[in-house]
Amino acid sequence: MKDKVIIITGAAMGLGLAAAKVLAERKANLVLVDFNENQLNETVESLKNQHPDIKILSVIADVSKEEQVKNYVDVAVKEFGRIDGLYNNAGIEGRQAPLTEYDLNVFKKVIDINLMGVYYGLRYVIPVMKKQNYGRIVNVASVGGIRGVLNQTPYVASKHAVSGMSKQAAVEYGKYGILTNAIAPGAILTPMVAEAFKQVNPEDPKAAETEYAKRNPTRSLGDPQDVGKLVAFLISEDNGYVSGQTIAIDGGESNMYGNAE
Ligand code: NAD
Repeated sequence: MKDKVIIITGAAMGLGLAAAKVLAERKANLVLVDFNENQLNETVESLKNQHPDIKILSVIADVSKEEQVKNYVDVAVKEFGRIDGLYNNAGIEGRQAPLTEYDLNVFKKVIDINLMGVYYGLRYVIPVMKKQNYGRIVNVASVGGIRGVLNQTPYVASKHAVSGMSKQAAVEYGKYGILTNAIAPGAILTPMVAEAFKQVNPEDPKAAETEYAKRNPTRSLGDPQDVGKLVAFLISEDNGYVSGQTIAIDGGESNMYGNAE
């Protein structure tokens, strides 16, 4: 990945940070985007200390705001003159509630961040990649972008949309050397998932985690590093022909019908 320029949104923690670590090891230059300024500064400082040989830029942006997305793209182009990869990862889960009782403001917020945030990223990065005749894009969907998930209507709707938009970008821009895929993580132990376990069992979130892991064929939750490695492949030149796919990384769980033994 030496000399490649990769943008990662939602880079301050969780899956974005895990991918940043893997890509930094592989010597990519990074543009790290997040709206959590303190957390992003901490992340960037620690990555810069560990990897003084690569360039790391940080841009504070809320991906649900079009002009802030345009700005992170402009900053990347001004500094590096190109964008080789976009990891469109920032997203939120929202609150858990049945479909008919879902809070409408939260519903709209989830759509604004998970769907519109990914779309704005595509809208502003693709023209840059088109000029280069090269680009790799990874959008983060979820198993909730393949299946229904109880009490998560806007999340599931937004993640199905991300999967659909990834196919769309793949078919419209493949002729410009741009390969676009979505990934569909299952339960990967990040701060977002830890928060979900707190909602399921506020008294004992660890018990909710253990219970959840039992359902997986591997009997475990996923490691953010594993997702980072999949992203690193899809966003590199090693990926020569995979495009328009939604690739599950979930220990096989989305293939299972019925309960684990
Ligand atoms: P996380 O909450 O641990 O981290 C998300 C990061 O995105 C945070 O740093 C947060 O500040 C940032 N962010 C959120 N909204 C933003 C916005 N509007 N603008 C800029 N930054 C924003 O979450 P995570 O588990 O790392 O999830 C990352 C992505 O992976 C999300 O899209 C999520 O839906 C998806 N995902 C995660 C899992 C999992 O098991 N962790 C499973 C499936 C999908």
